[in-house]
Amino acid sequence: MSPDIAISPTMSEADPISIPSVPGRSDGRQRKPDWIRVKAPTSAGFMETRKLMRRLNLATVCEEAACPNIGECWTKKHATVMILGDTCTRACAFCNVKTGMPRAVDPLEPEHVAVAAAELGLSHIVVTSVDRDDLPDGGAMQFVRVIEALRRNAPGTTIEILTPDFRNKSEAAVEKIVAARPDVYNHNLETVPRLYPTIRPGARYYASLRLLESVKRHDPTIFTKSGLMAGLGEERLEVHQVMDDMRSADVDFLTMGQYLQPTPRHASVQEFVTPQAFAAYAAIARAKGFLLVAASPLTRSSYHAGDDFAKLKAAREAKLATTS
Ligand code: SF4
Repeated sequence: MSPDIAISPTMSEADPISIPSVPGRSDGRQRKPDWIRVKAPTSAGFMETRKLMRRLNLATVCEEAACPNIGECWTKKHATVMILGDTCTRACAFCNVKTGMPRAVDPLEPEHVAVAAAELGLSHIVVTSVDRDDLPDGGAMQFVRVIEALRRNAPGTTIEILTPDFRNKSEAAVEKIVAARPDVYNHNLETVPRLYPTIRPGARYYASLRLLESVKRHDPTIFTKSGLMAGLGEERLEVHQVMDDMRSADVDFLTMGQYLQPTPRHASVQEFVTPQAFAAYAAIARAKGFLLVAASPLTRSSYHAGDDFAKLKAAREAKLATTS
C-alpha cells in the first residue's frame, strides 16, 4: 500500500475529505487500475506449494477465490487451507467458490492440514471453510479436529481460523471452537448491512456481529478479526458505522481490501477504491481503537496473516503496558 496523503488519526468522520476513486465498468470484465495488477505466479515455491496441496487433497481459498495474491503468498509458502470440501451451500454474489451439495466430510482432512503445516514449515496457518448449512453443527467440529491435529503435529504453528456464520447454531459452534483455543478467530462481515440482501443474501449482518461478540465473551484472550470488501457500492459513513459496530463487539483487527469481480456472473465492481482512500479508512479505523488495521487494494483476510499476528501480539502488550 502507498498511503501518500496525510490523514490525521484524530480526523473526524464528518470532515469533508476528497477521496478520489476510479469508477468500475459494468460491461462484463472490468478493467483494473494499475494499482491492482499482479504478476502471474511462476516461482518454484509456488509450484511446490501447489504440489503439496494436490498430494494431500487439500482445497485452498487462494485458488477457489481466485485470489490476486497467490503468486506472492505461495512463493513464500503461505496458503489458506479451505476445509470441509470445495463446495459451498450458499451462493454469495461476491464469491467464486462453487455452490451445490457438498460431499461427506473427509475424516483425514485434519491430519492432512497438519501435515501441510509441518511440511511447509508454517509459523502461522489460516484455516477457513465453505458454508456447510447441511451439517447439524455447520462444520464446527471439523474446525475443532483441525485445531487439535495442528497442536499435535505442528506445535510451533499458531492457528488462525476464518469461519462461516454457522447460521442458527453459532452459539454452540463458537463455544466448541473457542474451547479448542485458536490464536485468532476471524469472521468477515464482508460489507455494510444495506448491501446484505444483494451481496450476502444467505447471511444476517447482526448475526455475524453477534458471533464476533460471542467469541470475546467466551474467551477475551483470543484475538478477533473481521474484514470488509470495498467497491461494492458502500458509502463512506456506512463503512465507519460498521467499524463502530465491530469495535462494540471488541474486534481487535480490521482488514479491508478491494472487491474484484471473479466472473461476469458475480456482482460488478461499483468503484475501484484508491490506495489513498484505503489509507483514509485505515486512519479512521485506528482512531476508533482497533489494535491493528490492514487496508489496501490487495489486502485480503489472510494476506500477511503471520506477520500481522506478531503485530497483534505486540500491540496488545503495548496497550497493556500503558494501562497497567
Ligand atoms: S491473501 Fe490469503 S487467500 Fe490470497 S493467496 Fe494469500 S493466503 Fe491465499
